[in-house]
Amino acid sequence: MIAAPDSPLATLWCPAPNREARRNGVKPDMLILHYTGMESAEGALDWLTRQDSGVSCHYLIDEEGRIAQLVAEQERAWHAGQSLWAGETDLNSCSIGIEIHNPGHDFDYPDFPEAEMQAVEALCLDILSRHAIPPHRVLAHSDVAPGRKLDPGEKFDWQRMARAGIGLWVPPAPLEGDAGLGPGDEGEAVAALQRGLREFGYGVEVTTTYGTGLGNVVEAFQRHFRTERIDGRADKSTIETLAHLLAARGGTPIA
Ligand SMILES: [Zn+2]
Repeated sequence: MIAAPDSPLATLWCPAPNREARRNGVKPDMLILHYTGMESAEGALDWLTRQDSGVSCHYLIDEEGRIAQLVAEQERAWHAGQSLWAGETDLNSCSIGIEIHNPGHDFDYPDFPEAEMQAVEALCLDILSRHAIPPHRVLAHSDVAPGRKLDPGEKFDWQRMARAGIGLWVPPAPLEGDAGLGPGDEGEAVAALQRGLREFGYGVEVTTTYGTGLGNVVEAFQRHFRTERIDGRADKSTIETLAHLLAARGGTPIA
């Protein structure tokens, strides 16, 4: 264990017991943002530094923008849980996890205060300066655990992050009023959507059937990239936004 935080921005060093070596010596190439989903930041700090919680994270930011480090960046923290991205399932080994204090959807989901957002931005830039983390691997917990997690949620300002050079984001395509694809739909259009989401990194099987799992992934996508309507239906705006993201990332365009 190191004796001091990795980040000069961390004013508190509160070592968490739930930490270990990253498996196979991997270096972090992913940044996962969370909200705490707890009523107070003090409660979150207590929980994240208790062995019996079974969880931890690298950093915790409170609503006033104070940054605590709990696990050294070189170590594996326990924040992602059951998760999947780009075919990988041990995301704790390849990621750095930041918990942003916000009570979350179970407690009226307040806005993220400006002081807190400034701290998130500064800490992310600091982490990105130390590690080779590509923009498309700066993700929400909900992206890697759709259907199970909502955090940090649709109120988190990813556009602002992208303006600061954090993460991949494109302006969402405007809503067109079409119902789009949804549960029960089948066929090539569904398969093309599945291929696109899968290519971007989401945990999607290509089956040509729009099942519950696909609906959960579309909802997670919307919560991050097209927040104007979060309903798990792949309307034209959703599909177009995905295509623009794939193009911006430099991936193969979807058919
Ligand atoms: Zn989370």
